[in-house]
Amino acid sequence: MPVGTAATVKSLCREDLEGLGAQIILANNYHLFLRPGSSNVKKLGGLHKFMNWPHPILTDSGGFQVQSLSADDVAMCKIDEDGVTFRSHLDGGSLHRFTPQIATKSQIDLGADIVMAFDDSTPPNATHARTLKALDRTHRWLSECIKTWKSSSSKQTDPPALFGIIQGGTYPDLRQQSARFVIDCDLPGIAIGGASIGTKAQETAENIAFVREMLPKNKPLYAMGVGVTPSDLVSVIKAGADMFDCVAPTRLARCGQLYHPEPKTEYLDISKSQFKLDKKVINSGCDCSTCTSGYSRAYLHHLFKAKELLYHKLATIHNLRTMIRTVEKERSQAIITV
Ligand SMILES: [Zn+2]
Repeated sequence: MPVGTAATVKSLCREDLEGLGAQIILANNYHLFLRPGSSNVKKLGGLHKFMNWPHPILTDSGGFQVQSLSADDVAMCKIDEDGVTFRSHLDGGSLHRFTPQIATKSQIDLGADIVMAFDDSTPPNATHARTLKALDRTHRWLSECIKTWKSSSSKQTDPPALFGIIQGGTYPDLRQQSARFVIDCDLPGIAIGGASIGTKAQETAENIAFVREMLPKNKPLYAMGVGVTPSDLVSVIKAGADMFDCVAPTRLARCGQLYHPEPKTEYLDISKSQFKLDKKVINSGCDCSTCTSGYSRAYLHHLFKAKELLYHKLATIHNLRTMIRTVEKERSQAIITV
């Protein structure tokens, strides 16, 4: 899922995304709740109409952002047993509150097709005791999210799907406990939270495989925040993940890192002067419109150095298409058993 945090995949329009073969995009409840406001998006007919994207949208609940954006300043975020009170990063600190009910209702107001449970995500270095506390809270909050989701869904002809999130940090016993709880909720899909997955690609794949073993085969497994490089995607797909999102392809593109099958890094750093007179396209084996149209590395190097807006579009198209092509290839080779 290309990431469109603020109802836009940065620098791309709908036609660009369709051209890449994107089937679903991700938007963020925390950001849209604060600006332009979920209720305003609802008044404008929902997120699909608002951003002119008629295909599926998944919204992240905002639990991770509330805590990560205020991680440097504990005064910005206070967790209690019923929810999180936080200060906006946009306007110098206006006070807001997310509870499972508010975060779920906000995502339903946005009109997402897949809404995520509001969870208490712990950082990877959290202690067992802190992780266990967050886990208990996450499970209790999931029950509250389900109540709000069920009562809202009963009034809709085409209700969204709710995904529960497995937490448990780096502790296998807690991840197992969390997986059991989420499986028992019998929701349309199941996710594994970023902090639970691992910091290295190998560790991430092992942890996903550990959870996948326990899950019903007919439920999609969404690995949250996974997929920095194309090879990361291949390893988590092989481990059993069906959906993933990561800001990396778009963010790396904007920073000059363009995917290329280099044996070690998987990128070219287009800012380097070695590309100043390089007439080749980024990757001659790439089918993205940037490469097939013939935009050279020298031109991209120039646009990057000159901070030209066109650079963002050409680079983002290349990185996202590389990721989507990787997934398409894996999908075509998959043995589907129902
Ligand atoms: Zn390309």
